[in-house]
Amino acid sequence: RQAQYRRLRSRPAMTKDGTDVQMLLNAGLLVDLPHLDESGAAGIGLFRTELQFMVASSFPKMSEQEQLYRQVLVAAGDRPVTFRSLDIGGDKVLPYVRALEEEENPAMGWRAIRLGLDRPGLLRTQIRALLKAAGDRELRLMFPMVTEVGEFLRAQAMVEREKTFLKRHGHPLPASVKLGVMIEVPSLVFQLDELFRVVHFASVGSNDLMQFTMASDRGNTRVASRYDPLSLPFLRMLKIIADKAAEHHVPITLCGELAGRPLEALALLALGYRSISMAPASIGPVKAMVLESDLSRLRARFLSRLEPGRPPGDLRHFLRGYSEEQ
Ligand code: PEP
Ligand code: MG
Repeated sequence: RQAQYRRLRSRPAMTKDGTDVQMLLNAGLLVDLPHLDESGAAGIGLFRTELQFMVASSFPKMSEQEQLYRQVLVAAGDRPVTFRSLDIGGDKVLPYVRALEEEENPAMGWRAIRLGLDRPGLLRTQIRALLKAAGDRELRLMFPMVTEVGEFLRAQAMVEREKTFLKRHGHPLPASVKLGVMIEVPSLVFQLDELFRVVHFASVGSNDLMQFTMASDRGNTRVASRYDPLSLPFLRMLKIIADKAAEHHVPITLCGELAGRPLEALALLALGYRSISMAPASIGPVKAMVLESDLSRLRARFLSRLEPGRPPGDLRHFLRGYSEEQ
């Protein structure tokens, strides 16, 4: 199997009916970088910057952050990298941060962008490190756990302030700065028109979006596996996001664990997703699925099952049947 997947490495990720799929990598540490070349991924779709903070025993200094980001960009070369600002708080506790108290409901607590906006020194330092590391190339940065469009606008204003600061101090600025959000809180799905008017791109964090949509803790095995992402409510939600992104011409990626499972990834293609980001080990199996698929045959049949008034049947079963026919 592994050898078979390795042979696929240099083949373009294209379905039988000629649809290009951008296959990206989820990463977070230096040890992940060799996977870029090994897997043949088109770039890094999600760089989880909090991992550097989680393996450290004290806050990484700005220079250390900058150094890591630069190494990532060098390893990626011409391939795009999407950094995600710190997603700490909640279950991602940093022992050296006293302000992070125990919370009763950490997943819904003081985490990610919430913490970034309330303790702006932290986010400001990170933004400055990213802008400096990008040198004169493009910087792509997205913010996690955005719940209201206003939070994105505040983070965007912070980036603007940092750009002004660096310019005043004679630093080169990136060729362009592209800002986006993770769509992982259901409230954002009801603000897509407003959101897509202000972001350059977005990425669906299906792990969190699923846990909040189904009200089931992603880390609790009693409930986490109880609801199927390939079920009517969740697929409808993903379709709404894909359709709105297309309407607004905003590039959309999905970077939750879903994207790394072939059958789920097939559903994403049928829903209209053309960019997916996953763990390195998933690139081979998902690419094998992409190469085997004919979306022209699948799409209408699959989408009709999501419409109201039609019994959807077992959608996972339907997709499995389709993929076995291939
Ligand atoms: C997600 O929520 O789907 C996601 C990609 O982010 P994380 O798993 O780091 O929360
Ligand atoms: Mg998340």
